[in-house]
Amino acid sequence: MLELDTIAAISTPMGEGAIAIVRLSGQEAISIGDKVFQSPNGKRLSNVPSHTINYGHIKDPATDEIVEEVMVSVMKGPKTFTREDLIEINCHGGIVSVNRVLQLVLSQGARLAEPGEFTKRAFLNGRIDLSQAEGVMDLIRAKTDRAMNVALGQVEGRLSKLVRHLRQEILETLAHVEVNIDYPEYDDVEEMTHNVLIEKATGVKSEIEKLLRTSQQGKILREGLGTVIVGRPNVGKSSLLNSLVHDTKAIVTDVPGTTRDVIEEYVNVRGVPLRLVDTAGIRETEDIVERIGVERSREYLKKADLILLVLNYHDDLTQEDEHLFEAVSGMDYIVIINKTDLEQKIDLERVKTLADGKPVISTSLLQEQGIDELEEAISSLFFESGVEGQDLTYVSNTRHVALLNQAKNSIDEAIMGIESGVPIDIVQIDLTRTWELLGEIIGDAVHESLIDQLFSQFCLGK
Ligand code: GDP
Ligand code: ZN
Repeated sequence: MLELDTIAAISTPMGEGAIAIVRLSGQEAISIGDKVFQSPNGKRLSNVPSHTINYGHIKDPATDEIVEEVMVSVMKGPKTFTREDLIEINCHGGIVSVNRVLQLVLSQGARLAEPGEFTKRAFLNGRIDLSQAEGVMDLIRAKTDRAMNVALGQVEGRLSKLVRHLRQEILETLAHVEVNIDYPEYDDVEEMTHNVLIEKATGVKSEIEKLLRTSQQGKILREGLGTVIVGRPNVGKSSLLNSLVHDTKAIVTDVPGTTRDVIEEYVNVRGVPLRLVDTAGIRETEDIVERIGVERSREYLKKADLILLVLNYHDDLTQEDEHLFEAVSGMDYIVIINKTDLEQKIDLERVKTLADGKPVISTSLLQEQGIDELEEAISSLFFESGVEGQDLTYVSNTRHVALLNQAKNSIDEAIMGIESGVPIDIVQIDLTRTWELLGEIIGDAVHESLIDQLFSQFCLGK
């Protein structure tokens, strides 16, 4: 195990919760705890059995002043989350006293933990692999239940398991290559090698591609779907915003802060977190095209993942409407024809032509109609199999996506090499590279272990 310094942090959400926990991890965790802990019967944390909870007080060793009444959990490594010695000081006071407890342990030699550092330790000490560690991070930030499930799956090692399986396949492939290099005189070995290679390599490639296809979905679940509502003044943009924010479960509402120009609100649409961008613009000046000009709004729209283009059922299509269609062409958008409770004036055929295959939803926001259909359209635009297809492994991490793309390229090279009959040791290089790239996803140490594993795989040589 690595010997690292002792870190400390408040591990419960900030706020006036009933209980707050200061957590310490590292070699000095227990002895630092003893410097500030006082038990009524004089017992020391360093002497209590592991995995016990101990009642007492936190005192300032400089002044002997009692700061807080606490319960301290003592957990000795390696049977802890970080595999290091770990203590958790359960405080029940408010923010002020919890912060004082933290300050005290920092003054006694602990270092303030960086965000995610406890998890990082769990990884460094081999308790979890890298993609699981990243899953924990995502879990902390998950914005909807669905995003939570993806992150949870990653913590449980679903992605790791798949990646391990792919690496295994590549190892078996490499074993065949090895045979071919060692026994080039056997023609039938060569023949078998070629067929097995092609089959295994294309299998691995298509699995990688499948994973990559989920990455867009993964990104959405992680970061939210950047959504912009556009439309002429008075078509119902504010009403749409309000019905999305109010009828669905609003997740976070950013308080207007120092930057006035962009405000984001998150809403949960059937498990898809929508990040509604620029709600200030809609609320205050009604129309982004009017507010920031056609050119800039086009630039601006390009950054969105989804555009909700609102039209008025009770009005003729105007030049402005047509311009909006031009501005969003090539993007993911949904057309909303609002005010269906009023008399029809819009040319629906023309709308369908302009929409060019994109979903067109009719609503009467006033009468709360069509919102279900809109939500359905939003979720199925990005998640084909309906929204609650739970068992998918989503790749939601940019580092994983980059590695998978590289892995796909190198397995492609290998396949092309096999097909065009390049020397087998060149193919071997590409396969090894793919194996290494996949290994980086789960943070496996690379070179020696390839050799070790290759030999443990190698059944023919015995
Ligand atoms: P915005 O300018 O695009 O943001 O439009 P608003 O949401 O502010 O709506 C403009 C007006 O249209 C308001 O008076 C709304 O009450 C009304 N409105 C919105 N949706 C509907 C609808 O479905 N039917 C009718 N009849 N009026 C609506
Ligand atoms: Zn409005």
